[in-house]
Parts: sequence; structure tokens; C-alpha cells
Amino acid sequence: MLPYFPASYPDELLYSVLARFHRHTCSVSPKRTMDDLFGNRDARATVDLPGHLGSLSRRLPSDRGLTPERLAVEFTLFPYHTAFQPSEVVGAVLAAMTDGPASGIHTRLGITASTVVTPATLRYCLACHAEAFAHRGERFWRRAHQLPGVLVCPDHGIPLMESKSAPGSGHQTVFIAADDCVYQGEPPTPPWADDDGCRAILLEIAGRSAALLSATPRGVDPAGLTAGYRHALTDRRLASANGRVDQRQLHNVFDAVFAPARKVILELANTLWLSPIVRKHQHAFHPLHHILFGLFLDQYEPAPPPTCRPPRRQVATAEFLSQLRVLVNGGDGICTVARTLGVDPSTVRLHAAKLGLITPWRPPIRPQMTAKEDPGPAMRERWLELQQQEPHLRRKALADRLPNEHAWLYRHDRTWLDAHSPAPGVRPPPVARQDWTAIDQNLAAAMRKAAKAILLRVPPVRVTLAELERRLGCPGWIGNRRAKLPETLSVLEAVRDSVEAFQLRRLTWACDVLDRSDASASKWRVRRLAGLSNCVSDAVRQAPTSIEPQNGRVPPCR
Ligand SMILES: [Zn+2]
Repeated sequence: MLPYFPASYPDELLYSVLARFHRHTCSVSPKRTMDDLFGNRDARATVDLPGHLGSLSRRLPSDRGLTPERLAVEFTLFPYHTAFQPSEVVGAVLAAMTDGPASGIHTRLGITASTVVTPATLRYCLACHAEAFAHRGERFWRRAHQLPGVLVCPDHGIPLMESKSAPGSGHQTVFIAADDCVYQGEPPTPPWADDDGCRAILLEIAGRSAALLSATPRGVDPAGLTAGYRHALTDRRLASANGRVDQRQLHNVFDAVFAPARKVILELANTLWLSPIVRKHQHAFHPLHHILFGLFLDQYEPAPPPTCRPPRRQVATAEFLSQLRVLVNGGDGICTVARTLGVDPSTVRLHAAKLGLITPWRPPIRPQMTAKEDPGPAMRERWLELQQQEPHLRRKALADRLPNEHAWLYRHDRTWLDAHSPAPGVRPPPVARQDWTAIDQNLAAAMRKAAKAILLRVPPVRVTLAELERRLGCPGWIGNRRAKLPETLSVLEAVRDSVEAFQLRRLTWACDVLDRSDASASKWRVRRLAGLSNCVSDAVRQAPTSIEPQNGRVPPCR
């Protein structure tokens, strides 16, 4: 256990603590420091997702309570990179950081394949460094400053400085404490520093990114995440009610919301990730993508919905009719009256006609209502006419030819329809039925003969239903008609070989063959000739023992 380990500062990187340890102990080399900290000179002290935290934890003073999990959650970028990952990925990454080399973590999290650029050098805030030096006497590297897409300090809002320290660029661990990178002179001013809109967006991104570091990742459901995004887009009228996203509109409003920062954040200019993130999640998305999408949802204010049409005016009121009567009697034209009353001219025409007013315009044209004719006679006439033309048609054929007439007559005058339709046809005689009893008896007799023939075959052939059907010339025929062939089935049960019976028959045959050939009928030879496996019943297993060689001769098995 290490006798000394520096106390950590809020939001400090584990790499920063280790670099301060290296500096405080005046270690002669980074490898010596790694050996002291991890017991492994070849371990790497990476900035974002270091491994071997279990080894480190076991060497730290126990009163610190720095378990491997706490080291990962509070001193690395583990909470940030796993904030939107499923629980199984969170667990696997934590296990790799705790117990093993963390070499495959970046690939597992999709960081390696992501278009989001990881900062190459350590970054810091001049104000944070000044406060740390004033209150603690030394500076340190903060986690929130090393996150991709974070260009301003989430606490002070000023642009971050890029140090010359790039611990991850080489193959060897290099410890560079923040006190080794003190900036001298006037800090450079980025071109966006005076753009309030851009700085507001960058500050939001920095704040949301830093907030992920303070939460312990529990794992998220990717499907639920996508569904939440779609619901949010539906609420903002960028997706239909069933979740179909208007991709063109989404890209347009996304570009509009982040227009001030498009030239600063590459992910805002290159939005190829935007469409896939609202589809079904099929691969991991970088946390920065989720942060930008969440920020977009919060900042995008959809246009107010179109105003509803005013309710229809009640025109048939006494007041309306009174005004209409006065205006019409005054000699105004239909358009003037309609404009005065605020209604359509056709409404004026209709109600003036209803009131019986004398108008300079013509009354509304209404279809002449005729007495509803009874379609019955025509229906009956066409039904009878078709029967006279084609007397051979049955009722079903007539209904197919005159479906409307048949439906009307069936519904309104079924008695007449039955009386004036062809009589039901006589069913054709049924097909001659099979005499299954005779078939069964004949087949049973044939099966007995076939079974005897099979038993005579050499080498032995097992008596099965399939073999019997083959010999009877009807493969598969008996099996499909079991219910009609009871006697045949009883014969089948009597003559069919069980597995054990067939194996015993083969043993007997093998004994005979070896006996005739004067070969030594050892147990294994008999079993091999009989084609027996090791999985046989006790009766079969005991059978070859009766033919063990006796005085050089083999007795028959029987
Ligand atoms: Zn700061």
C-alpha cells in the first residue's frame, strides 16, 4: 500500500491525480510511478477511460475509500461515455476498466468509429486554474474540460485553453501535471468569442456534457430512447402521430437552431448522424450526438398551430331572417345582402326562397323530388325473363347472373322468389364406397406373408411398417389409413421387430456367419458384424457372452 497519495480535487481527472503523485514524489520515471501505482510498469495511464483500476485501488490508502468503481465514476470520463449505453455495455466497460486492460473499450463504445473528434491535448480554463492555484496552491486537470465538443468552461463560460500536453499521443505513459503547463502572456481569443449566440450554445453543450459526469450510469434502453425522441418530434410537429419523421424539416430547423455555432462544432455542420438517431438504434451514438439532439429539442420552439376555423354562424335565427327580409325588400342585390349579413350568397338565395320573398335573383334550383317507384315489378320481370331465356340455369347460377335482383327479391319477397325459382337439383349419387373390411382382411394376410419374407432375408432386415409397405407396393399408404385398417394394424404389431429383437436377430446371424467362417468369434467381432453400438439393452449386452471362445471354437449364439 502506498504511504502517500495526493488528495483529489473536485472534478479532477484520475490522470491529473497520478500526475501530481508523480510530481510530488519526484519519481525518476513514469514507469517507476506506474510500478508504484499499479504494480505494472507497462500499464497505461490514459486520460479518458483507464484500465487496471482494481490494481490501483488495492495500493491506495484504505481510508480514502477509493474503490475501483468510485475511481471510474468520479475520476474518469466513464459516466460521460456510458450515459446513453445499455446496462450490459455499462457493466462490461466498468469490468474492463476495473480488472483488465481497457484496450477494447473505445471500440465497444463506438468511440473509435465515431466521427466525433476526441481532444488531442489536455485543456484547461484560465479562471479555474487561477482559482485552484489561489485556494489549493496547485492546479489540476478537470474532467469537464476534456470532453468532446466542450469548448468553454461550464462554470466560467470562457474559452478553454489547449495545453501542449498530449498524454495519449505516444506509446509510453507521460505524466504532465497542470502546474507544468502554466500559460504565460495574453490568452488567444477564438473568432467566436464575441458571438453571443454561439457562446450561449457552447455554454449549453458544456453544461450538459459536464452534468453527465456527475451521474452514475445505470444503462438506458435504446428502443425507449428512440421512442422518446420520436414522441418529442411529434410534439414539435416534426413527426407524424405514428412516428414518421419529416427528415427534411428536421434538418432545416436543426440547422436554424444551431446556425450560430455551425462553424465551430463540426457535428453541427456535418449532421449525417441526425437522421439515424431518430430511427431504430442499430449502433451506438456518441454522447455528443445525444447532447446536441436533446439541446435541439429544448431550444426548438415550433410555430403555433394554425388557428381553428371560427364556428359556423347560426343563420336561421329570427334576427338574421328579419335583417334578410329588410335587405331584400330594400332592393339590394344578392352579393350586397350576403356581404352585409356576412354569409355566402347561396345562403341568402336559400333563405329568401324559404321566406317566399320576391327577389331580383332567381330562386335556388332544387332537384325535383319524384315519388319513389317500387322496383319490385321490374325485378320480378327480369328474374322470370332470364329463366325463360336459359331454362337450364339453377337458382345459384341465376343469382350469379342477376345479383341485384336476387338480393332485392330475397330481402323483400322471398316467398315469390322461392315460388318462381327452379327446383333444387337432385344431388348426384355418391361415389361408390370402398369395402374397407375386405381391404383390411386382404392387407392383413398380405402383411403376414411379407413379414415372413423379410425374416428370411440375409443379412437380417428389420420388420418395420415402412419395410412392409415397400414390399406390399404401397409406401406410406397404410400409415395414412390406420383408422380404417384395424386388423392390419394388429398384424403389424405382432410381426414388427422391436429394436432389441432386431439386434438379437443380428447377433444370432453374426454368430452363424463367424461360426461358418472358422474365424475367432470374439465378443467385439460379433458385435461389430452385427452392427451394434455401445448403447444397447441389457439383454443384448449379455447375448454375446454366450459365444465366448471355448477351446478355440465358438458355439452358436442360439
Ligand atoms: Zn473555469
